[in-house]
Amino acid sequence: MRRKYFGTNGIRGVVGDLITPEFISKMSSAIASYMLDKGTMVIGSDSRLSSPSLKEEVISSFLEQDIEVIDLGIVPTPLVQYAVPHLHAQMGIVVTASHNPPEFNGIKVIDSDGIEIDIAKQKRIEEIYETEIYQIDKTKTINKITEMNLTSEYVDQIISLVDADLIRKSKLIAVVDGGNGVGGLVTPHLLGELGIKVVSVNCQLDGKFPGRGVEPDPVKLSTMGFVANQTKAHFCVAHDGDADRAIFGDEKGKIYFGDKSIVLFEKWILQKSNNKQFVTPVSSSSAVSDIAEELGGTVIWTPVGCIYVSRKMIENNSILGGEENGGLFYAPHQSVRDGMMAAALMANILAESKEKLSDLSLKLPQYFQAKEKIMCPNELKFRVMDHIQSIAQADEVISVDGVKLFFTDGWILIRPSGTEPIFRIFVEAKSSKNVEVLLKQGLSLVKQALKKYQ
Ligand code: MG
Repeated sequence: MRRKYFGTNGIRGVVGDLITPEFISKMSSAIASYMLDKGTMVIGSDSRLSSPSLKEEVISSFLEQDIEVIDLGIVPTPLVQYAVPHLHAQMGIVVTASHNPPEFNGIKVIDSDGIEIDIAKQKRIEEIYETEIYQIDKTKTINKITEMNLTSEYVDQIISLVDADLIRKSKLIAVVDGGNGVGGLVTPHLLGELGIKVVSVNCQLDGKFPGRGVEPDPVKLSTMGFVANQTKAHFCVAHDGDADRAIFGDEKGKIYFGDKSIVLFEKWILQKSNNKQFVTPVSSSSAVSDIAEELGGTVIWTPVGCIYVSRKMIENNSILGGEENGGLFYAPHQSVRDGMMAAALMANILAESKEKLSDLSLKLPQYFQAKEKIMCPNELKFRVMDHIQSIAQADEVISVDGVKLFFTDGWILIRPSGTEPIFRIFVEAKSSKNVEVLLKQGLSLVKQALKKYQ
């Protein structure tokens, strides 16, 4: 069986293990070779210590195949995604491992429309990589690299999509936690342009991510919350390592899980728009359905993964998408998740509502959630999943990704992990007691199916 290199978001691994200069060079040659319409590629990287040298490997491989390179420098992933269609480039590469620890790195491959390449294209690139069918003609090598700074244009586009005058009049204060990543380069500047007084936390670039770690896990954001409370900020926002996600906290310093903020965005945007479709993975809270129903909208469920959300949004011409990890997709800007766009929209919501974020949050549907995992050998996953589907009973069943079972008071989602030998069980209910009941029920279903094959 051919090895799979692409995961949910590009290729990632530990530097010195999977991610070596040789691997990145060869994989980049495969990607460049896949580009039938040779033209221009756009490259950017995150702030990791290994990023500059890996970026050089990518650039050399593309130049060797007569492809011009536009180098955006150290930038958020969404800025590269904005740049690719904007500059009419054929492809983009971001050297980043997103929220993974500092010892990791990798690449995200962006298609000409700004969205990460789909699975069919990933497979084709893996095939080219494995069979080494790419041609390199070093005699033809061009050496065209252009350095470009698109931050101002990118920031201006975001500002043009919010009510900048209203935000400026509202005299907001915001705390930005860049997590020592690239978000710290853009979000304080963006919010500053909107007249917001910004207090920066961990906004100095540091490839070792010493501040609070690279993943904006709500439990690690207490410093941001404390600063928000002390500075009387209206909201606080933290990004992951490549700033495509945003986790928010309120004026009291309370940090919200991503599904709380995406529901707030859903409520605000669907209320104002004639387009009332919200695209979200099956793992999202039922709060998204409650809001859609209240506003006469619809929820389009996708498999877990931002590429699925983006592609579904394009397919249905949807205005908004969201993920429970703090990914927000706003189509008027771009149909990919963008932490900076999310921060500007949050400022817009607070300026327009004139309410505190904690009060707005209380008006959203409240649910309790829990998750669990259970070991299952990779080779058994498909059969176990099939069996679970055949024995599971519920009021409504969705099989978009794993199986999601809806009951009167909540739901159970059972999914095999794409990378680990485990099944993940997520549950949600309106009471903590029912969460426990559903979690037991979910575990028992998986165990029952496992027993049949072990
Ligand atoms: Mg990310």
